[in-house]
Amino acid sequence: MHGRVLSTSRLTPGLVRVVLGGDGLAGFAMPQVRGGDATDAYVNIAVPPEGAAYGPVFDPREVRDAHPREAWPARRRYTVRAWDATTRELTLDFVVHGDEGVAGPWAARAAEGDVLVLEGPSGGYRPRPDAAAYLLVGDESALPAIAASTEAVPAGRPLTVLLVCDGPDHEVDLPTDADLDLRWLHRDGSGQELLEALRTVDLAWHDVCTFVHGEADEVRALRRHLLVEREVPRAEMSCSPYWRRTMDDEAWRAVKRDYVAAMEGDA
Ligand SMILES: Cc1cc2nc3c(=O)[nH]c(=O)nc-3n(C[C@H](O)[C@H](O)[C@H](O)COP(=O)(O)OP(=O)(O)OC[C@H]3O[C@@H](n4cnc5c(N)ncnc54)[C@H](O)[C@@H]3O)c2cc1C
Repeated sequence: MHGRVLSTSRLTPGLVRVVLGGDGLAGFAMPQVRGGDATDAYVNIAVPPEGAAYGPVFDPREVRDAHPREAWPARRRYTVRAWDATTRELTLDFVVHGDEGVAGPWAARAAEGDVLVLEGPSGGYRPRPDAAAYLLVGDESALPAIAASTEAVPAGRPLTVLLVCDGPDHEVDLPTDADLDLRWLHRDGSGQELLEALRTVDLAWHDVCTFVHGEADEVRALRRHLLVEREVPRAEMSCSPYWRRTMDDEAWRAVKRDYVAAMEGDA
């Protein structure tokens, strides 16, 4: 499957929105959870190396069979921020975090007509409609899933969102009919910004649906705090370490299974 870039826009200095479309997205179908689209749905994108000896539209499996490893496309995961089945438009929001990496630089350079090969989507979370309250916590990489989830929280329901970013010009609005308490935290270099803010959140509700995604070490500390100190039921938490500050995605995927097992051993 592939999409062609219809448009790109800078949502913030560190976030690029890419809208893909075209016949290459025929057959794209959002995973269904509790009667609606999964709000954490993601695609695996495949970005070929510079000067690849195959065209922009390719089958990643065929490339792996026919080409040496150094010619294989890099694989990255990105959340479906929005999918419009009528116009067949797929919206992805990419964190651009400097010149390092594959996907961030690809998005920063993307122009109308460029091709992006992708597989998926998969996903399994949507805010439970009968929860008493909702808590969504993360960084910019989790913002697409948090924004999609925010839109799916029932009208009037208490919703607390904690998001960390680099500064005021990196903040975006989150439209919702829920009773939203949105707190943007600005990085101070400690990596503790979300955890410190979370400590001040009143979790007195008996039935909170929680979603915690983002940088691995931050997610792990947030998860431990919620499960151990705040006694949030494990079944009520969607928790995923998306990326690791000290590693690129290849290195992270190589250790992620063990990391998640250790994280689940915390509590
Ligand atoms: C299910 C899932 C959904 C995801 N959805 C999104 C999404 O919608 N939008 C999004 O932007 N990301 C998302 N991510 C995270 C994204 O896949 C990773 O951040 C990925 O490593 C980015 O690839 P890259 O090629 O830009 O950088 P890499 O080549 O992987 O890394 C290069 C360097 O950049 C650092 N780095 C990687 N990501 C970030 C970051 N976010 N901020 C600062 N430094 C970083 C690495 O630690 C490394 O030092 C998702 C991850 C998962 C597992």
